[in-house]
Amino acid sequence: MKAQVLHTYDPALTAPEWVRGAEVADPKIVKSSDVIIRIGGAGVCRTDLHIIEGIWRPHTDPSGTALLPLIMGHENAGWIEEIGPEVEGFKKGDPVIVHPKVTGGTCIACRRGHDMHGEGKFPGLDSNGGYAELLQTSARNLIALPKTLAPKDVAPYADAGLTAYRAAKKAAQQLLPDQAAVVIGAGGLGHIGIQVLRAMCAARIIVVDTSDASLSLAAEHGADHLIKADGGEVDAVLALTGGKGAEAVIDFVGEKGTTKKGLDMTRPMGSYYVVGYGEEIRVPTVDMVITEKNIIGNLVGTWAELTELMALADRGLVELATKHYRLDQANQALQDLHQGKIRGRAVLVP
Ligand code: ZN
Repeated sequence: MKAQVLHTYDPALTAPEWVRGAEVADPKIVKSSDVIIRIGGAGVCRTDLHIIEGIWRPHTDPSGTALLPLIMGHENAGWIEEIGPEVEGFKKGDPVIVHPKVTGGTCIACRRGHDMHGEGKFPGLDSNGGYAELLQTSARNLIALPKTLAPKDVAPYADAGLTAYRAAKKAAQQLLPDQAAVVIGAGGLGHIGIQVLRAMCAARIIVVDTSDASLSLAAEHGADHLIKADGGEVDAVLALTGGKGAEAVIDFVGEKGTTKKGLDMTRPMGSYYVVGYGEEIRVPTVDMVITEKNIIGNLVGTWAELTELMALADRGLVELATKHYRLDQANQALQDLHQGKIRGRAVLVP
């Protein structure tokens, strides 16, 4: 099959090309529960840039470069190509979206439904993913797509959408109609988070971003207030929230100073949700005591939550802005993402 393969890390992200096209062996059914997916779309994610930089190396490649060459791509949707002998309920040609964590289903995390904390591979990060024509996964990871949703249009929901959904759902379950939520960063994840908040709670939604294009995307998707992040964004949020800050702040950026600003926008007893990552959070412990603010991490989402998100998408309550690239344009897609040129999400279509 054709694939785009990462051969070397690039900590400064300055190389002209990061992945190379190659003809590689097709993935095979190994376990009886395995499934081979013909990729219809593979989302291009900021995590892929972080993999290239080597941020994930201590977690996925501690011995050095043993992981490489790697086929990235953890946001996958497509059609069933082949099923293992024990797989039931799916047949060749069925359209599916793939939960990114391959889980066995028998550990305590899986049995409690916390799929992303289960034991198993995360294709695209620690084993071969979907920047290719075919992907090996497990039947347990699949969600059948309704007729309304095409694989190339929904692939980024598998991680970007699911992560935004999980954080926004946690916030929505706490938020009351007289309260406010701040979304920092209305890019690929943020524009989904805004729609999930809109669909699941009645709080006011304040969106903060450095880019006019992202703010216009936020306005189309239900933001009540738009704030250009030009240095005065904390004051602007305080002015909109009676000087106290918002009950929920969801930070889809997590670098370039947004963690301090995000916490400064959070009201006492409010919650600051970390989604984007890169920098350190530094808070005097006395401030945590006095304000009783919560700092909440978010890791992808459960299989059940991906099903919930597909229900919102099927009913048109959440829409994904996508830009499609051919598989052999993977470097272009990664570059465009790196340079902030993508409105919504980039998707590779083999
Ligand atoms: Zn991702």
